[in-house]
Amino acid sequence: MGRITAFRGSDLRCKGWRQEALLRMLENVLENGENQKELVVYAALGKAARNWDAYHAIVDALRNIEEDETLVIQSGKPIGILKTHAFAPLVIMANCNVVGKWATSENFYDLQEKGLIMWGGLTAAAWQYIGSQGVIQGTYEIFAAIAERHFNGSLVGKFILTAGLGGMGGAQPLAGVMVGATILVVEIDEARVDKRIEDGYLQKKTHDLDEALAWIEGAASKGESVSVGLVGNAADVYTELVRREITPDIVTDQTSAHDLLYGYIPAGYSLEGVKRLRETDPVKLEQDARASIALEVAAMLTLKNRGSIVFDNGNNIRTQAYEYGVKDAFEIDIFTEAYLRPLFSRAIGPFRWVALTGEASDIQTIDNYILEHFKENKIATNWISLANKYVPFQGLPARIGWFGHGERTELALAVNKMVRDGVLSGPIAFSRDHLDAGAMTHPNIMTERMKDGSDAISDWPLLNAMLSCSSMADLTAIHSGGGGYSGYMTSAGITLVADGTAETDIRLKHALDNDTSLGVLRYADAGYEESLDEIDKKGIRRIDL
Ligand code: NAD
Repeated sequence: MGRITAFRGSDLRCKGWRQEALLRMLENVLENGENQKELVVYAALGKAARNWDAYHAIVDALRNIEEDETLVIQSGKPIGILKTHAFAPLVIMANCNVVGKWATSENFYDLQEKGLIMWGGLTAAAWQYIGSQGVIQGTYEIFAAIAERHFNGSLVGKFILTAGLGGMGGAQPLAGVMVGATILVVEIDEARVDKRIEDGYLQKKTHDLDEALAWIEGAASKGESVSVGLVGNAADVYTELVRREITPDIVTDQTSAHDLLYGYIPAGYSLEGVKRLRETDPVKLEQDARASIALEVAAMLTLKNRGSIVFDNGNNIRTQAYEYGVKDAFEIDIFTEAYLRPLFSRAIGPFRWVALTGEASDIQTIDNYILEHFKENKIATNWISLANKYVPFQGLPARIGWFGHGERTELALAVNKMVRDGVLSGPIAFSRDHLDAGAMTHPNIMTERMKDGSDAISDWPLLNAMLSCSSMADLTAIHSGGGGYSGYMTSAGITLVADGTAETDIRLKHALDNDTSLGVLRYADAGYEESLDEIDKKGIRRIDL
């Protein structure tokens, strides 16, 4: 079997466009994934299907399923096709959900070994991953918020230090350049550095810290932006910068620190060395990984004390360090609470759309529509203008756009009409990151320090998924954490296919309105002023107790 890529064009292999769309989305996550051979899409172990037999069975099911049937998937394995009705989801899935006391990383690895479970990441198993372009606006908005709050609105001439050039981390260098900064990204795996350069997300590569710093200083002194990938270990490099008394303006990390067995590479090890140790002494590997993370986080705390703006970018790095004994690890802010919560409180979050025929001009047409019809939305228009200029497509042409309640529906209905009228070359799939207002509970990432202390309550993503089914989404997914995220998170995903039909207008309206309504209600319930304001402005029906 050759390398899998998403099917393009307007021919159908399935019984309708809704089914064909979901099949192309599945192929697309593999096309964009980090390790197709292992079905791994991103975040160390986040997979698209349980194994290759399961993948082929899913493809077969999607090719044969009727409009009024629902394919049921359990942790990446299809288990049946059930008769439902034409407005029911075509696919529902639950990935990696284990009851509380058993939701440990040890149990997860054991169940994975037995072939009974897989971790689906957030968007990997739900077939919604669109490569680094899916997270790039989030990273950009964090940098922009930091610029606003700490640097008089501009990061020109500023130095960002980070690590990790994987599926999601690969967005960092381009986001850094888009805000006009200089950015150094430490990455242990040279192949990942090369891939980001190839994809157009990173500019320069070196193995030498002195050379990297010279490039950074050279660009910063001229007010130019540059992105540099340094092949090395983050624990070593961060510690060395502390020793040299070099204090970057902004510091974070996006290695897969959440996973000690498959994600974070401890200092002193090669990639091969880690592979071997994983087989022979996994306990030692976990201990060494955690010790390295502790060193790195200690360096981040020193840099914070010396004046850097330091934040956790959603990889549990503080949690791992804390468990090793770095008791002040949580003095580092989490990006959601520090910078993005005012947006999430209004359910403004990472909405996205994919051109299913593979025509890049469809995305361009939608960009133009947004620039013309959402002029008052400065976040969206600023982003779309920049993305148009800077962000290369990966896989099927796609775009991320942070839109809120009502706006997502308005855009999707307009797009559905463009499909109907033949303005676009074919259908468009809409989805979003699971890291969205009403769709994720993770007490160390999304819901840390909620105003009312409701950080760990996972009713919200479960309600979100049930609502998405009853609101006629085409695909609904419920995910929980695996590997190092075991016991830490529950999230929900949604996909809708704008195929141009009148029925789809109804689906889009209900599913998108209700998705964001629940997001606003979740934050209103926790007492956020922005949500209460949004409820008033947009007439969301809240029961206020
Ligand atoms: P990935 O597994 O694809 O990439 C991680 C990269 O880190 C790899 O390239 C690996 O070689 C590198 N790495 C590991 N240890 C290293 C070390 N000690 N020094 C230098 N490089 C090292 O993962 P990803 O998809 O890029 O995600 C990274 C992390 O971000 C994960 O923990 C993921 O869960 C989290 N995440 C956050 C967000 C968010 O919204 N902020 C979104 C998605 C993922």
